[in-house]
Amino acid sequence: MTSKLAERRTSIFERISGLAREHGAVNLGQGFPDFGWPEDVVEKAAEALRTGSNQYPPMRGLPVLREAVAEHYGRHQGLAVAPDAVTVTSGATEALAASILALVKLGDEVLLFQPLYDAYLPLVQRAGGVARLARLSPPDWRLTAEVIDEGFTERTRAVVFNNPHNPTARAFDAEELGLLAEACVRRDVVAISDEVWEHVLFDGRRHIPLSSLPGMAERTVKIGSAGKIFSLTGWKVGWTIAPPPLSEAIADAHQFLTFTTAPNLQAAVAYGLGKEDAYFEAMRTDFARSRDHLAGGLADAGFAVLPAEGTYFLSIDLAASGIPLDDVTFCERAVREAGVAAIPVSALYAEEPARNVIRLCFAKRAETLEAGIERLRNARRLFV
Ligand code: PMP
Ligand code: GLN
Repeated sequence: MTSKLAERRTSIFERISGLAREHGAVNLGQGFPDFGWPEDVVEKAAEALRTGSNQYPPMRGLPVLREAVAEHYGRHQGLAVAPDAVTVTSGATEALAASILALVKLGDEVLLFQPLYDAYLPLVQRAGGVARLARLSPPDWRLTAEVIDEGFTERTRAVVFNNPHNPTARAFDAEELGLLAEACVRRDVVAISDEVWEHVLFDGRRHIPLSSLPGMAERTVKIGSAGKIFSLTGWKVGWTIAPPPLSEAIADAHQFLTFTTAPNLQAAVAYGLGKEDAYFEAMRTDFARSRDHLAGGLADAGFAVLPAEGTYFLSIDLAASGIPLDDVTFCERAVREAGVAAIPVSALYAEEPARNVIRLCFAKRAETLEAGIERLRNARRLFV
């Protein structure tokens, strides 16, 4: 392929952000907020930097953070988590890497759902696993029994699952989760459940952790990230929660991946996880307002916007918007000719991609969203 966006040397997020910088574009591609982080959590980190330890913390994380994670999930999701089940990692990315390296052995089949978060496939391949790809399809991206069956075989050892889902912005419902859990139990498969978006849910939705379904607690690795809970994506403080045999194996992998994560940030995250419910409610309300702003502006500009139930993202269906371009071409032209950056969702498929969907990040100030809408309106005029 000759397209610059189609090269796979670096992630699509990295490449789009590079192009956005090069062309001075409004960057609605990579998912990072330009507002919304809690100042008191940042203040705690600054204080911890000056007055706390700046030396290696324990390998599995500061005790205060492991306790805070356990307490947080008890309070918000009704889970009984022991602090010993928590391993603090350098972001969810390392949590995924440690879990996959720990649990996937040479030749093991791993079920992944497309479109998929970009790290999953290379990590499974690096562990020597064989990826089996099931696909979710626009516009409703529903997880059905057929989709699940498509990916499972006799050799499936693990499934990597993401809910709420990046890039589709789906929050899978109890019925969909029930189907997946039932298949995991029946086939004796471990679930690596990437739940980094668990707090970023809209319209009164509540997160259902996969580990809360019958038979799943003993076979689920739950992954979280402070980056998404506190809109601090650069901090890279994440964690895994897993029952003892799995958590020991994950800690063994983490030991030689990064060993630890900055103690000051860990201390600040421990403080943040104890914040009052009002903080989490306000965060959701603010992001929902931003979602409505972007969705409304784009609909007004003639785009067909898909629903966003959670995450920082919404998608546009190009074909349904009357735009006769595939997603990669649209995104390349939009960043160069119209000064606005978006993610082509086909880059998040490993095979047979949907080519008519682009992803936009709405976790931005009103002025940023307004500028993005105007530029996309202009792109539509230029390309149709
Ligand atoms: N998983 C998903 C689904 C994500 O969306 C992200 C970040 N956008 C990550 C993992 C990585 O999280 P972190 O920055 O904590 O490594
Ligand atoms: N998770 C972010 C997104 O989906 C990107 C993170 C990254 O650049 N690796 O946009």
